[in-house]
Amino acid sequence: MERFLTKCVHSGTLRSEMKTINTPIYQSSTFILTSEDYEKISEGRVRDINIYSRYGNPSRRSIEEKIAALTGAEDAISFSSGMGAISTTLLTFLKPKDKILTTIDLYGGTYSFIKNLLSKFNIEFVLVNPENTDEIIKNMEGVNVILFESLSNPLLKMVDIEEIAKNKREGQLLIIDNTFLTPYNFNPLNYGVDIEIHSASKYLNGHSDLIGGFISGSEELMEKIWPNMLILGTSMEPITAFLLERGMKTLGIRMEKHNKNAEKIAKLLQNHEEIETVFYPALSNYSQKELRNKYLKVGTGGVVTFMVKGGDKRGVDFMHSLKIIKEAASLGGVESLISMPFNTSQRSLTEEERTKIGILPGTVRLSCGIEDEADLIEDINQALLRTSK
Ligand code: PLP
Repeated sequence: MERFLTKCVHSGTLRSEMKTINTPIYQSSTFILTSEDYEKISEGRVRDINIYSRYGNPSRRSIEEKIAALTGAEDAISFSSGMGAISTTLLTFLKPKDKILTTIDLYGGTYSFIKNLLSKFNIEFVLVNPENTDEIIKNMEGVNVILFESLSNPLLKMVDIEEIAKNKREGQLLIIDNTFLTPYNFNPLNYGVDIEIHSASKYLNGHSDLIGGFISGSEELMEKIWPNMLILGTSMEPITAFLLERGMKTLGIRMEKHNKNAEKIAKLLQNHEEIETVFYPALSNYSQKELRNKYLKVGTGGVVTFMVKGGDKRGVDFMHSLKIIKEAASLGGVESLISMPFNTSQRSLTEEERTKIGILPGTVRLSCGIEDEADLIEDINQALLRTSK
C-alpha cells in the first residue's frame, strides 16, 4: 500500500496516449458520442462516460481519484467550490421538515446557507456546542444530518467524531468538513464519518489561485449526490482540475511546513505581552487536549487564531503594519495570510452570535504559509511593537 506522499504525486494521474507525465487539461465542453456511449446511457451508466463537462470530464475524474486515495474513500466528487460541495450534499439528503444538527462554530458561509437558505425549505437546524459531546448526543434524536468541522473556522474547536458516529441512529448521516486539517493531518472517514468535505480552494490546492471543492465517501452515497451536481450546475472546470492536480502533488510536504510554522508562531504568541489569548491545538492551554491527543497524531494544522490586546481597532492596525504576511480573506496558501473574522469569514453573523461562540474583539486568524519561520516571527514582532501604546 502506497504511503501519503507517494499517493499525492501518483494517485489519480491520467497519463494520456501521448505518454504525458501529467493529466492533460481536457478543455472541452462536450465529447464525441459513440454507439458504446449510447449503450451505457441506456443502461443508466451516465457517470462512466464523457458526454458534457457539467456531467463529467477526464481532468476532473483524475483528481477525484486522487482525493479518494488521500481520504481513504471508495469514491469522490469535485465541485466548483467548497460551498458547491456543501450545498449540493446537504440539498441531496435534506427535505422539508427534516432536521440538521450543527453549530454556529462553522465557516460563516456554511452557517449562512443553513440559516438563511435551508430554513426557507422548512428544514430545521439544531445548534449545539461542538465541545459538549453529551449535548450533541442528546440532540441527535430525530435528526437526519449531522454536520461539523473537524477543526472549526476560526476558533479551532474539535468534535469527538468517533463518539458521535457510535451514537448515530439508523439512516443518520455524519458529514465532516475537514478543510482546516486536510487528509494529511486527519482522516475522518476512519472514525465512522459518512462524507468528508473540503474547500479545495485552501490547502489542497495550496497556491491561492483557484476555487474548488470535494466530497468523498462510499460509492453508494456519491452516486446519490452526483445527479444533483448536474442539476445545480456545481461542477468543477477542467482547468481548475488541472491546477489542483498539480497543487495536490505537494500537499504532504506543504502541510508538514504549515504545521511546523503554526506551532512555532502559536508558542511565541502565547508568551507575548501584547496578546490576550491564543487558540491552537498544540498549545498546553488548548481546551480540548484529550481530543487533540486522540485524533491529531501527525500535526495540528496551519491556522493560529489569537486575540490582540486593544480590540478590533488594534487588530486592524496590527494587520496593516505587517510586511511579509498579507491581509486576505482566505487561508491555506503557501504565503501567510491574515484576516479578522468579524469583517471576513464570520461577517454574516450578528455581533451577539460572534460573542456567543467566543469571537471577541481583537480576534485575528493567521494562516501560516511555508516561508522561513524566523521571517514570519520577525514580521509579527515588529507589527506588534509598532502598534503597542
Ligand atoms: N469550509 C470551510 C472550513 C471554509 O473555511 C470555507 C471557506 O472559507 C468553505 C468551506 C467554503 O469554501 P469555498 O470558499 O471554496 O466555497
